[in-house]
Amino acid sequence: MMNSNLIGKIDLADHFYKFKSFVEMRSGCLFDGFDNNYFLKKEEGYKYKVFKDAQKYLQLDSWDESKIGTGCIAECFKKAYDCKGNLFNYHGSNRTKKKIDDNLLTAEKVLYNIYLGNDDEKAFAEAVEFFGAKYDLIAYLFFIKDRDEYLPISPKNFERMFAVLGINVKLQYQCSWENYAEYLSLIRQIKEKMEEYFSLKVSLLDAHSFVRWIEEAEKHFITKEKWIELLKNEAVFTIEDKNILKEFYISPGHTAACSELEDRTGKSLIKINKSMGSVGKKISEMYGFAPIITRVEEKRHWPILFRGIDRDDNKFDWKIKPELTEALEEVFPEEKSKHIEKETEEFIAETETQREISTSKILSKSEFFGFIGKPRMKPELIETKHGKRYRRDKQRSLNALHRANFLCECSAEHKTFLRKNSNINYTEPHHLVPMAYQDRFDSTLDTESNIVSLCSNCHNQIHYGQGYREIIMLLYEQRKEALKKEGIDITLEGLLEMYD
Ligand SMILES: [Zn+2]
Ligand SMILES: [Zn+2]
Repeated sequence: MMNSNLIGKIDLADHFYKFKSFVEMRSGCLFDGFDNNYFLKKEEGYKYKVFKDAQKYLQLDSWDESKIGTGCIAECFKKAYDCKGNLFNYHGSNRTKKKIDDNLLTAEKVLYNIYLGNDDEKAFAEAVEFFGAKYDLIAYLFFIKDRDEYLPISPKNFERMFAVLGINVKLQYQCSWENYAEYLSLIRQIKEKMEEYFSLKVSLLDAHSFVRWIEEAEKHFITKEKWIELLKNEAVFTIEDKNILKEFYISPGHTAACSELEDRTGKSLIKINKSMGSVGKKISEMYGFAPIITRVEEKRHWPILFRGIDRDDNKFDWKIKPELTEALEEVFPEEKSKHIEKETEEFIAETETQREISTSKILSKSEFFGFIGKPRMKPELIETKHGKRYRRDKQRSLNALHRANFLCECSAEHKTFLRKNSNINYTEPHHLVPMAYQDRFDSTLDTESNIVSLCSNCHNQIHYGQGYREIIMLLYEQRKEALKKEGIDITLEGLLEMYD
């Protein structure tokens, strides 16, 4: 029975999310695709290598019908067969090779039909007849033909993994083309859903890796409810541990580099590291997690609590995981109110600038203001009722609005209205790299190249709405060069991270 519509009914988003979270935990860095992730490369990279090596040995270009029975095909094949990785059960390999040698003509016909024939169903049946119903072996033979079409199989494991995903399909003792085709079709459907979910190019083999890890991903996922229990468990979090975690919580984006916390809190870097590491270690032991070896090739425990993020300035951020963030807000509601003030501070400060601009006289919109094109000094820190804040110069915001001719920089077509006391369009200044991140830069963020003119709608969307990423990508493209010249060196990924 073909399950061609089965995947369509299953919601995989939750599993994709847990997979991403798992990969981030095990690699200690963000999941941004399959090609470069440290953990996936380490654990799954061998499949790509096996394929490459096997292809090299097969030398399919040199095959033609006249070679059948000469032993040339078998020679190539035996080397490719030995590449195996752990993609099939290799026991009895000598017997298999002997069987090929003893029945050269039949064997080479079977192989020829697998690799150069045009009837997969027939080739599969012939392979079963020749090699026996060894599902993993025959799938391997097909896999090394074309990894975008075929996959290796571990029937027992994959049957179990599919069950975790809510897909009931029998694979054990089902060595037939019909069953294999269904298996491939299921993973192909998963691949398509993954591409949609991750907005990434995903290969069939990547989707195979996802399925392979799904049970582990499930096991390593800590829900908000579990975090609440853990936070209340004094054997896991000491008071000091909770205090340190709260410092991360109140940082912009619940994210900070340990060295920044050292500067801000006076607690030593080593202490912060040790505290969060020991909490992670206790949790890891409680739940029986596999050890985390990050790309520094050492055991680490902080990735149980945080996502690790490379920063443009070579610092390394720890961002509290979303489920732990939610748990913290429930257990310590007073921290939440503190954080909201910090998050909205950006908007409050902007509102003040907007008010200052709207009450000042804007004489004409014909003046043109360009960018200064070199780094400027960091602004001074001033004390406000919401805590310390960097001073903003309203003139620079006004210059930026002038430069945009008082139009929205997402699109000049966006409708605005006229200001109350002048005949000039109303738009709002927005700091593309938020001032909350001034600490990370040696030159000021309060400079025209970093200030964009937005209509009220776009401005609110960039702060509070869905689709903010698209707006940021658009503005970043327009500004990245100018920002760089003024010492604001930032990648798109780094910028998006500040808004996520
Ligand atoms: Zn803004
Ligand atoms: Zn707009």
